[in-house]
Amino acid sequence: MATVVGSGPNGLAAAVTLARAGLTVTVLEAADEIGGGTRSFEAIVPGLLHDHCSAIHPMAVGSPFVADHDLERYGLRWRLPDVDCAHPLDDGRAGVLLRSVDATAAGLGRDGRVWKTLFDRPVDHFDALSADIMGPLVRIPKHPVELARFGAPTVLPATVLARAFRSPAARALFGGVAAHAFRPLHLPMTSAIGVGILTAGHRHGWAVAEGGSRSITVAMAALLRDLGGTIETGVRVRSRSDLPPSPVTIFDLAPEAVADIMGDFLPQRVSRAYRRFRRGPGAFKVDFAVEGGVPWTNAAARRAGTVHLGGTFAEIAATERAVNAGRMPQRPFVLVGQQYLADPQRSAGNIHPVWSYAHVPNGYPGDATGAVIAQIERFAPGFRDRVVGHLAQSTSAMAEFNSNFGGGDILTGAKDIRQLTFGPRITLSPYATGAPGYYICSAATPPGPGAHGMCGQHAAQTALRQLHNH
Ligand SMILES: Cc1cc2nc3c(=O)[nH]c(=O)nc-3n(C[C@H](O)[C@H](O)[C@H](O)COP(=O)(O)OP(=O)(O)OC[C@H]3O[C@@H](n4cnc5c(N)ncnc54)[C@H](O)[C@@H]3O)c2cc1C
Repeated sequence: MATVVGSGPNGLAAAVTLARAGLTVTVLEAADEIGGGTRSFEAIVPGLLHDHCSAIHPMAVGSPFVADHDLERYGLRWRLPDVDCAHPLDDGRAGVLLRSVDATAAGLGRDGRVWKTLFDRPVDHFDALSADIMGPLVRIPKHPVELARFGAPTVLPATVLARAFRSPAARALFGGVAAHAFRPLHLPMTSAIGVGILTAGHRHGWAVAEGGSRSITVAMAALLRDLGGTIETGVRVRSRSDLPPSPVTIFDLAPEAVADIMGDFLPQRVSRAYRRFRRGPGAFKVDFAVEGGVPWTNAAARRAGTVHLGGTFAEIAATERAVNAGRMPQRPFVLVGQQYLADPQRSAGNIHPVWSYAHVPNGYPGDATGAVIAQIERFAPGFRDRVVGHLAQSTSAMAEFNSNFGGGDILTGAKDIRQLTFGPRITLSPYATGAPGYYICSAATPPGPGAHGMCGQHAAQTALRQLHNH
């Protein structure tokens, strides 16, 4: 018997892995609906489908967990936009990311050669490499030489790697993806998440799930039920006494929450580390209903599943530095999702769902809706007049929606060198809590955020190994 607390993609992946090994698994979920950060909802206009959180999935498509479990059998279909990502600049030009490395390089002019040098080889070897990249970084790699080649540029600050490019468009394109880490870009290893996303994206595309990101949840939950697992919603676990006795319990929760639930049962050093866990900046989310779509000046942006708004590399570096220092920038970095371009059933006639969020300081108490609209309007004049309705979610609303996202920190923890490398505490076993039989599998653990399920799979495999050793 095993219990999983939380039904985000990692909780469900952990549950599936345990159930496949023959354990009877129960998932306890606090919300009335399963899926955590991988849910979708209809709002603003009848029939319009929005993703609550996760939207674009370059890391999930090729994740070893997703690849191993034939989720297509349970209805999961990936859809690709024509253009993976566009990063428009004020002069109307844009850095344009396409699935093919060659096609992307061709659009980057004299910087194309550097793009190819960076990505050709890792993309060719991505399938083999992903087992090493999508797990704890501190362990014996399966492909040490390829991993070393891939890893060399990732240790650099993004500001240093960006200097390899000469055009503002190429620099900004790289900077916008590096900014997914929510880190000041001048710090070491701030290239890692960007290079990882770009490599995975060139291999598999910046895919969206047909029918909304909730299709990922629906497929995982259906697989779990087929394996005999059960899911109970509306059950918030507050202390250990809320847990059924079972030899394996896995928490799909932030480390602070695990410390609260486990109390004195957790070794003191682990409890201290979990309570000292550092949070990253917040996200302020705005969903729009837009008649006729966003009137981007740049043509590629009109065909892009993702559009990054932050101007030049230097401007993005300044905004990321500000939000990490607790200051709200006047023009924050904004990510825009146009998933409907790849998955048209999400629209209602000519009204389209547009997903966006701005990087803001953790716990930012203000309303960033105006700043988000202004950033979109900057690169798409006339946008404001096309908005039929919108729905904003502040940092506190985000944390209320899912307590893993404390202060709006949607990555479940700052991805600084220590936490990116080890997870919530310095150990070679990041999924073990130090209390026998209790494990943690949320995005706070390696390989980190996303709907790839790999934190859950690794945690469950750790639990199974320890169970069999006893
Ligand atoms: C606005 C936004 C945009 C994002 N964009 C992307 C994207 O485009 N691509 C991408 O890959 N990722 C994206 N992410 C990140 C992604 O959603 C998360 O990394 C992912 O959901 C983490 O999964 P998880 O299983 O670790 O935990 P979560 O998805 O956080 O799930 C945890 C679950 O535990 C439940 N829970 C919490 N406390 C308790 C308790 N005490 N008892 C019982 N249940 C509890 C919660 O209700 C929740 O269902 C985004 C996130 C947000 C919020």
